[in-house]
Amino acid sequence: MRILVLGGGVSGLSCGLRLLEAGHTVELWARELTPHTTSDVAAAVWYPYRAFPQERVTGWARRTFDVLSELSVHPEAGIQVVRGVELFTEPPPEPWWASCVPSLRAATGEERVPGYAHGYSFEAPIIEMPRYLPFLQSRFRERGGRIHQREVRSLDEAWRESPVVVNCTGLGARTLVGDDSLFPIRGEVLRVAPPPVPGFIFDESEERGIAYIISRANDCILGGTAEDGNASLVPDAANAEAILVRCRRLLPTGARFQVLEHKVGLRPGRPTVRLEEERVGVRRVIHNYGHGGAGVTLSWGCAEEVAALVGAAS
Ligand SMILES: Cc1cc2nc3c(=O)[nH]c(=O)nc-3n(C[C@H](O)[C@H](O)[C@H](O)COP(=O)(O)OP(=O)(O)OC[C@H]3O[C@@H](n4cnc5c(N)ncnc54)[C@H](O)[C@@H]3O)c2cc1C
Repeated sequence: MRILVLGGGVSGLSCGLRLLEAGHTVELWARELTPHTTSDVAAAVWYPYRAFPQERVTGWARRTFDVLSELSVHPEAGIQVVRGVELFTEPPPEPWWASCVPSLRAATGEERVPGYAHGYSFEAPIIEMPRYLPFLQSRFRERGGRIHQREVRSLDEAWRESPVVVNCTGLGARTLVGDDSLFPIRGEVLRVAPPPVPGFIFDESEERGIAYIISRANDCILGGTAEDGNASLVPDAANAEAILVRCRRLLPTGARFQVLEHKVGLRPGRPTVRLEEERVGVRRVIHNYGHGGAGVTLSWGCAEEVAALVGAAS
């Protein structure tokens, strides 16, 4: 089958690859390509944040955990599987995503930071998006996929190209298919170097304000913020300062690093991820958008479900 994928972020590229591997002819159109998509801003660690419903998210996240771990053997993919901690001041319940992560256990005293009496320790993939998205693009092209930078204004316009369309337009689906349940969850992060600690440390408490440290090969991402309904892409200096203050409480006293970059992105928030097929006569669209703060974490599980919905090449 000839298939048109809309969207050049992590969702569109992962779907495009799985569809090529299933024997289809695939073209991808995107208004923005890496390094200008939301996916480029992702921190990015495997972690199912602000994506629903839990039952479907668990399956997609588990599958993606395995695929990202397999891809980590390719240095050019920019993925490392590392151990890190999520910290709490009160005893936490077992995380709902525990079944996805084989190495999950209680954090030891040495792993915890002063002020946090509880925590989980687990291994998870950390994905350097500025390396990973070009890696996906190259694989897509090597397998015969074609990429065009092009905005689409309606599904009819896409269907004129192909009767089977895969819609991975993220927040863009709000306009493209009139989905008013989509909303931006604005996030800001700082890129710093050198990495002040190994692995990752999270404090996801909304009351204290979320804080996370994600160390990569040569630099580190400090976050973050999550502002529902704010669509501004202008970096906010006060938010950057607040991120530094919150992250300092997770870091050893006197940890030294330099801020290299301040980035802003709009997570595609939605009450539930939309992954379903819609048919209009003989024309088909498979929607795959609304992954909130977990588009990377769900990417392969969702791509494989999309490929199954499309069906085998005839
Ligand atoms: C600060 C921050 C930190 C994050 N951290 C993590 C993390 O640690 N782990 C994680 O899993 N996730 C994280 N996320 C969330 C993640 O970035 C998103 O869930 C993910 O990028 C969504 O990917 P996508 O491909 O669906 O959408 P996008 O990356 O937004 O891609 C959408 C694509 O569709 C194109 N498009 C839109 N409209 C049209 C149109 N009309 N015509 C043609 N093309 C169109 C766009 O140009 C783009 O190419 C984070 C996000 C932010 C902002």
